[in-house]
Amino acid sequence: MCVFCEIIKNKIPSYKVYEDNGFLAFLDINPINPGHVLVVPKKHHDNLHSLPENILAKTGPVLKLLADAVKAGAGAEGVNIGMNNGKAAGQLVNHAHFHVIPRYYGDGHESWRGGKYKDGEAERVLEKIKGEIPLQP
Ligand code: 5GP
Ligand code: ZN
Repeated sequence: MCVFCEIIKNKIPSYKVYEDNGFLAFLDINPINPGHVLVVPKKHHDNLHSLPENILAKTGPVLKLLADAVKAGAGAEGVNIGMNNGKAAGQLVNHAHFHVIPRYYGDGHESWRGGKYKDGEAERVLEKIKGEIPLQP
């Protein structure tokens, strides 16, 4: 059983922040900043690519609830919402989850550095991505 399934089933202790039928939120054991919360759908799915629509539809309001609470409770100046999908993207626990991270000016966790597109590169990747989006009904 995966580590988050064990936390959800109370087989591993955690500092729980919020729980409802579909979600558990608890403190990350290695916080980026104190108050870093993980929001975890209770049903095991590996990552975003396999999360069903009915869970996704409920995710937004839960993230908003936790983002507001983390911001106010941790006295944060900003909040990052993050999700790592796949090993190459830094996913260590293969149970879909969202990070809610309190942020402060000068906390040393400044975001990724952007690059520059080469000639024609933006147009090429744009067309490939658009080609993967199913037609909307
Ligand atoms: P990922 O890199 O998969 O997006 O993040 C997994 C997160 O889960 C990491 O930030 C890590 O600190 C956290 N984590 C891993 N194992 C445990 C655990 O047993 N308890 C808690 N509370 N957090 C965990
Ligand atoms: Zn799991």
